[in-house]
Amino acid sequence: MSASEDLHKRRLAAVAPGVTSAISSYVDNAAGGTLTDVDGREWIDFAAGIAVTSVGNSAPLVVQAVQDQVARFTHTCFMVAPYESYVSVCEQLNALTPGTFEKRSALFNSGAEAVENAVKIARYATRRPAVVVFDHGYHGRTNLTMALTAKVMPYKDGFGPFAPEIYRAPMSYPLRDGLSGEAAAARAIDIIEKQVGASNVAAILIEPIQGEGGFVVPAPGFLPALADWARSAGAVFIADEIQTGFCRTGDWFASTHEGIEPDLITTAKGIAGGLPLAGVTGRASIMDTVHAGGLGGTYGGNPIACAAALGAIETMRTLDLAAAARRIGATITDRLASLDHPAIAEVRGRGAMVAVELVKPGTLEPDAALTSSINKACHAAGLLTLTCGTYGNVFRFLPPLVMPDAILERGLDILSHAFDNNH
Ligand SMILES: *Cc1c(COP(=O)(O)O)cnc(C)c1O
Repeated sequence: MSASEDLHKRRLAAVAPGVTSAISSYVDNAAGGTLTDVDGREWIDFAAGIAVTSVGNSAPLVVQAVQDQVARFTHTCFMVAPYESYVSVCEQLNALTPGTFEKRSALFNSGAEAVENAVKIARYATRRPAVVVFDHGYHGRTNLTMALTAKVMPYKDGFGPFAPEIYRAPMSYPLRDGLSGEAAAARAIDIIEKQVGASNVAAILIEPIQGEGGFVVPAPGFLPALADWARSAGAVFIADEIQTGFCRTGDWFASTHEGIEPDLITTAKGIAGGLPLAGVTGRASIMDTVHAGGLGGTYGGNPIACAAALGAIETMRTLDLAAAARRIGATITDRLASLDHPAIAEVRGRGAMVAVELVKPGTLEPDAALTSSINKACHAAGLLTLTCGTYGNVFRFLPPLVMPDAILERGLDILSHAFDNNH
């Protein structure tokens, strides 16, 4: 029995089966673009732990910062005895997120927790109940964020009842609706006005590029039109940049590509090189409304996670990982464009957040079975790929932004072969 098989047997007896893994090999160590499993097999990493280890695994500045911090103190709770690194991370978030207006930030443990807090803040500031989300949207697995998330399987099925006052509007999905950004926004706004009512809307909550929902890039003009509508309606425009943030799309934040300045931005995933940290950043005029003690949590902005974030942000800055994301994205996109495969309906994305959507040739009918076969072929050849999408028919590529060209090319060779051998 291999070491992974042995661990897998222990896992089946010990770990709740509701928690699954993309592969059944167990990790021994990982670096900037590869994982090595407990049997000594190397994997090329096109997942980065779901867009988390953008600076690579165990990035030197992250390791140093964490080691220094863990030896100084591990936890005091910022709500009990504050420390500098929490303040520094908030300063960085306020400076790096789009918008030159005065901002404040608060720190949490996970993306879902950040989204929940953004909704709390928007409701408090507006004194309104309704939150508008979009088809294919993903915002987490807690009770409120399950309600905000679109897809029932596996995220919501049997886990209700869900939080009230959540309304879903149609997303701009150019491949499937053929609408311009303006037309798609008009369609969504009409539904919001007729079915929710502008004066009831606390927040519009949207991913600038959808993550789990299929790396759906809205048509140009869609997000600015929604942001304009939110402003005119007195609602808070929240960009969930948990997957798109921190250089992934070729800029610090994806909102910048669309020229929007969200009122609030949620961040997590890529923020801290793999340590659990999340943030809500936004207009001081909104953030400052909440009463003292209304926000917080025992571990939010833990000092080790904050130290890691400062190391990760410094790494992104000194290595210019936004430029790296653009370069990696161009390499992946070129290779995907050169694949002559009848199931490819669209290659899309921005920066190093690239996806390919697979359909039955000549139709728009999703082909989840083919997506799954190609995914398995990649895994068998040592390439760690992920799928996504409401219909399970989208491949997504999220390599660490420090991945060396030679490894990226080797991964793309495996991917090309997997496409060639599966029709
Ligand atoms: C992953 C993700 C979340 C949830 O983050 P967790 O840390 O898993 O709670 C929320 N929104 C988006 C866009 C995400 O990609």
